Amino acid sequence: MTTSGTEAERDAHAAPESRSNFIRDIILDDLKTNKYAGRVQTRFPPEPNGYLHIGHAKAICLDFGLADEFGGHTNLRFDDTNPEKEETEYVDSIMADVKWLGFNWDGLFYASDYFDQLYEWALKLIRDGKAYVDDLSAEEIRKYRGTLTEPGKNSPHRNRSVEENLDLFQRMKSGEFPDGSRVLRAKIDMASPNLNMRDPVMYRILHAEHHRTGNKWCIYPMYDYAHGQSDSLEKVTHSMCTLEFEDHRPLYNWFIQQLGIFPSQQIEFDRLNLTHTMLSKRKLRQLVQEGRVRGWDDPRMPTLSGLRRRGYTPEAIRNFVASIGVSKTTGSIELAMLEHFVREDLNKRAARVMAVLRPLKVVIDNYPENHMEEMDAVNNPEDPTAGSRKVPFSRVLYIEQDDFREVPPPKYFRLSPGREVRLRYGYFVTCTSVVKNDKGEVVEVHCTYDPATRGGNAPDGRKVKATIHWVSAAHAVDAEVRIYENLFSKADPSDVEEGRDVLDNLNPNSLEVVTDAKLEPSLANVAVGARYQFERLGYFCVDADSKPGKPVFNRTIALKDTWAKVEKKQGVKG
Ligand code: ATP
Ligand code: MG
Repeated sequence: MTTSGTEAERDAHAAPESRSNFIRDIILDDLKTNKYAGRVQTRFPPEPNGYLHIGHAKAICLDFGLADEFGGHTNLRFDDTNPEKEETEYVDSIMADVKWLGFNWDGLFYASDYFDQLYEWALKLIRDGKAYVDDLSAEEIRKYRGTLTEPGKNSPHRNRSVEENLDLFQRMKSGEFPDGSRVLRAKIDMASPNLNMRDPVMYRILHAEHHRTGNKWCIYPMYDYAHGQSDSLEKVTHSMCTLEFEDHRPLYNWFIQQLGIFPSQQIEFDRLNLTHTMLSKRKLRQLVQEGRVRGWDDPRMPTLSGLRRRGYTPEAIRNFVASIGVSKTTGSIELAMLEHFVREDLNKRAARVMAVLRPLKVVIDNYPENHMEEMDAVNNPEDPTAGSRKVPFSRVLYIEQDDFREVPPPKYFRLSPGREVRLRYGYFVTCTSVVKNDKGEVVEVHCTYDPATRGGNAPDGRKVKATIHWVSAAHAVDAEVRIYENLFSKADPSDVEEGRDVLDNLNPNSLEVVTDAKLEPSLANVAVGARYQFERLGYFCVDADSKPGKPVFNRTIALKDTWAKVEKKQGVKG
């Protein structure tokens, strides 16, 4: 399913509580029947093996949002059952990102907090004849499992006595056996039509140091054995996860039933996919490790830390997530829809300033030399309380190279020889001549100004068809500006020919660095993270690489460019 921008706009204006969804309906029903004594408790369970991405934002908004709506609680639980891939750096970044999105957890837990309890429960299952130690290799276990059309075969070790199983499992725990030599399996049904129910592995041997439990354990529980029990221990009522776990639900319920513990309920929803975007921590980690991007928080990354650095707001992300809703079928959402919510939010909050990315010098021949005037400029037309500021105007200015054409194409109304335009907040100017370099390129434009048009209107009522932005050359602040395009060229980055890799679809032009941008002087000392609209260009955010006197800006997103559309239609290349 692809949702268009117009649908998005309609949904976004609906009150959040009227945006019903099937999970909310389940919760409302459970409240009506008093299934959990009126309680709603959820958890967000990231595995600390990478940074959170925009897909996780959907899960976070659901987990925290639904609990909030019904006066419930949400725990943050790190799913740290795999000691080999998990790191404290990821734990710290995940906590920072959840807070930045605007949510506060009630309890903070780690699946590893429950290793002792999970071990005790494994002993209980062995004693009850519901679990056994298997000596088959991983390869043999795979073979014995069967296929979707063929039932599996029982392991020759399936009927070990309780005593032998208890002895072997305890010796697994005490470190007697090498990695991969034995596993503990649930004893369910090797002929089950659901492959997950064919005696799934509960524990494996792994002599690896864990980021929290150190070397205490050399057996580690599998996700399916740890997750439901962790939910149950925290008395989670509604445990939301993505659709690929639907087939695991019978197993989730089986463990809880066998152990007779609190019956948490697993509910699956569709994972977020975005066009031109890769949402797999494994693949994102590869981009970072291979140096394809500048780190997890590279502004081209779909990670929350990347989007934050790029200038996206938490409000924009939350509005986007609310508008896409949840369902039981996985589709793909247009990246343009996320961008719509970013523009909508920044339009309200970003101060307007003037900046020239690709400067072209303009000399106003009839303007006095060594003279400066302060022009009044509105900070934000969307927010009257934002006030105004003074912008210096003088004889030599910079304008955008794009705003001048020696030979204007049809419907091009900006500056060209003989043409009059308005300088925003300044005067009307008319181009009189140009100076070219020996390659024949225009390097300087000469104009005259009409002193009667100060502020931008002609007393005689004459009109101009274009208003362009400018920066006074003598007062300009030099800046670096980083312009980003989609990280992946293809709408579906995983659409690759045989033998090729997703990374072959990386857009080689996803980053352009503009080193000699000219900014109005109010931007001399900006705070890292501050967001601005550069008039007529887009939204920009101050990067942490900024130095005093030399700010670095990231382009968050371009304004909708109407000229680019005209150009495309006309097939004109300017
Ligand atoms: P990845 O494949 O990127 O590693 P994951 O599902 O393994 O994702 P977890 O850290 O296990 O990542 O995910 C934590 C929670 O976020 C889970 O409940 C998971 O279902 C949810 N989640 C992960 N990716 C998405 C997504 N693209 N859309 C919605 N929810 C997601
Ligand atoms: Mg995972």
